[in-house]
Amino acid sequence: MYESATRHDWRLEEIEALLALPFNDLLFRAQQVHRQHFDANAVQVSTLLSIKTGACPEDCKYCPQSGHYATGLGKEKLLEIDRVVAQAEAAREAGASRFCMGAAWRSPRERDLPVVLEMVRRVKALGLETCMTLGMLAPAQADQLAEAGLDYYNHNLDTSPEYYGEIITTRTYADRLETLDNVRQAGMKVCSGGILGLGEAPRDRAALLQQLARLDPHPESVPINQLVKVPGTPLEEAEELDPIDFVRAIAVARILMPRSHVRLSAGREQMSESTQALAFLAGANSIFYGDKLLTTANPQAQRDQELFAKLGIDLERREVTGDDDVALRTLAAAGPNTASAQALYYDASLA
Ligand code: SF4
Repeated sequence: MYESATRHDWRLEEIEALLALPFNDLLFRAQQVHRQHFDANAVQVSTLLSIKTGACPEDCKYCPQSGHYATGLGKEKLLEIDRVVAQAEAAREAGASRFCMGAAWRSPRERDLPVVLEMVRRVKALGLETCMTLGMLAPAQADQLAEAGLDYYNHNLDTSPEYYGEIITTRTYADRLETLDNVRQAGMKVCSGGILGLGEAPRDRAALLQQLARLDPHPESVPINQLVKVPGTPLEEAEELDPIDFVRAIAVARILMPRSHVRLSAGREQMSESTQALAFLAGANSIFYGDKLLTTANPQAQRDQELFAKLGIDLERREVTGDDDVALRTLAAAGPNTASAQALYYDASLA
């Protein structure tokens, strides 16, 4: 039995060696780690709402929301608080336990922050866990969000420090790490991961995973995205990512960060059912669901339910009790095809 240890000092060579293991050995090891810390047949689902879409001043080469590229995406204003709350309420009524809100900003402006803080307070008051992704945060902004009741903050490292400059030039890796540190110092939980298929070398994947594992404590959520090649972005012609390499990265993320939720995020629509099944076998245990993941298409809820039913996967739910460590795995006791399980599939992108 391979015993998992929570470490923050993984060397690059060790991670590369894991990525290069025979596939079956790697998945077996990841499964052993996974089963030490999680129900191997449970997957957590989160709902995501874009509260401000498009015209972002950053130049992330993969992103259709960047104002630097002509992707045909309209510029939208910050959603009104009441509209966000109404959607959160509908999500809660449908059974969602966490509500994630994303804005395409470099960082929140001072005049926007009070609005965002009010969104957090009101969504939190519904009894939902709250998560936001708003770009870079200064320490005082992180403190204000935490005081308003924000549970999670998403800020991805995207790729390795070495490859980062090929993908984004408007901010640095150090900026990214600084925001993550500010989030932690403010007492919030961290959601941070990366994107594969950006044209990075295998060593960059190892280095990204090393950076994530270096965070102490590890991020509670680790989204591993596959590039969605959006026409108009500089990466629209990027080389196709080998699904086996994607699954390897999931398995290594599971081994390196044994207690984190490893999330299949953007790119799931392009994945076959077999690849997703392998990713769950490799230790992925979280997904975003609904029709949209910010602005890229996401598999329809119905397809997710059918796949979960085929695989015997149940839904992991977290009960907000005031004690965030109390995980409630009701797992739709009657299985994912029941009405109660279907109620969990709420599309927060719809008005
Ligand atoms: S990934 Fe985020 S920061 Fe980068 S361009 Fe898109 S919305 Fe802006």
